[in-house]
Amino acid sequence: CHLSIFESNSMNQQQLLQFDREHIWHPYAALPPTTPIYAVERAEGVMITLKGGRQLIDGMSSWWAALHGYNHPRLNAAATKQLEQMSHIMFGGLTHEPAVKLAQKLLPLLPQGLEQIFFADSGSIAVEVAMKMAIQYQHVKGETQRHKFATIHSGYHGDTWHAMSVCDPVTGMHGLFAKSLPVQYFLPQPQTPFGQPWNEDDIKSLADLLEKKGAELTALILEPVVQGAGGMYFYSPMYLMRAKQLCEQYGVLLIFDEIATGFGRTGKLFAAEYAGISPDIMCIGKALTGGYLTLSATITTRAIAQTICQGEAHCFMHGPTFMANPLACAIAAESIDLLLESDWQGNVQQIEAQLKAELRIAASFKSVKEVRVLGAIGVLEMHEPVNLASLQARLVAHGVWVRPFGKLVYIMPPFIITPTQLSALTAGMLAA
Ligand code: PMP
Repeated sequence: CHLSIFESNSMNQQQLLQFDREHIWHPYAALPPTTPIYAVERAEGVMITLKGGRQLIDGMSSWWAALHGYNHPRLNAAATKQLEQMSHIMFGGLTHEPAVKLAQKLLPLLPQGLEQIFFADSGSIAVEVAMKMAIQYQHVKGETQRHKFATIHSGYHGDTWHAMSVCDPVTGMHGLFAKSLPVQYFLPQPQTPFGQPWNEDDIKSLADLLEKKGAELTALILEPVVQGAGGMYFYSPMYLMRAKQLCEQYGVLLIFDEIATGFGRTGKLFAAEYAGISPDIMCIGKALTGGYLTLSATITTRAIAQTICQGEAHCFMHGPTFMANPLACAIAAESIDLLLESDWQGNVQQIEAQLKAELRIAASFKSVKEVRVLGAIGVLEMHEPVNLASLQARLVAHGVWVRPFGKLVYIMPPFIITPTQLSALTAGMLAA
């Protein structure tokens, strides 16, 4: 392979793909990859244009992030304006308008009581930060025996070390590392689906765990209502209400990972609203910048932050290089404005109704176990894991960008998708 062939401005598609195959890792992929990789030329609105000219309707929002579609003039303008001021400046000892403005816009939207914000670089880091906050808080309170975390099966919280420890050991993709990770408590997945009458038996395992091990537990971490990459499952918000009561009773903090669910995806601005409760610590990411740049945040209460800072460290022990990156913060602030100015709730309801109507037929397919829709999320759970290589190629041939995973073929399109584009997306998905 000759690195120099790529010095010319525009790359020949075949050479680009060849170099990529030989040198560049993709998420959860072999090197060279065993599933197809496509080269993207540009993306605009909900359309992705591949090199060579093929156009695909985006069903993924680049993994929950690109709410407003791609190449949005308002987000582009916010980025350009901020670039002219500064792209980045360290956050240690310095602050800036993009971070302050973003926090001013964001905090009033969050569940009540969440007021102290830590900007981090990615979803996984926001989860690490949340777990560290919980540990520091418990230790300052003298509860130094609280080391462990509890969570439910089929959850997913990220790829870094402690985030991995609370991912489902099987569906959470990190089984390989199980022996090296801290051992956490895994509870059964809540069995009451979203929208179904609550069965109090569902909370029994958490109540039992707290009774036996409550004094060892630092926090319970959950994706509220919608479990993402670990199972694409929607469960009753009553579980969250009951979990909140129990956690309070046993002095265990409640962490909500709203990295996938945040910013309207489930039909509420944040999924916690379905339960009408506030967690002690909450993580957000993904759609925070409208899918433009990586940025996340971990938000907690004043009481928890104050306790942490009264400890012997007198501070919270985390501080990444690119903390509160001004470029990302400026785009995030504009993305929030865009969302709130739009009829996002109407759009999500419209997408939900259309997904229900158009995906329903898949329940009669022999290969499909269940069809689930909530907000702007449509899921086909198959009986068997899909053959990603062949299904991915068929989806692309049908003009849609859908990225199946394990037994799950799912879509969460940008909120700006039109009914016609959405029909073409579901039709392409079902045909493939
Ligand atoms: N938590 C949840 C619920 C997620 O869906 C993800 C990403 N799939 C993460 C955490 C990790 O985020 P990131 O990939 O930005 O590290």
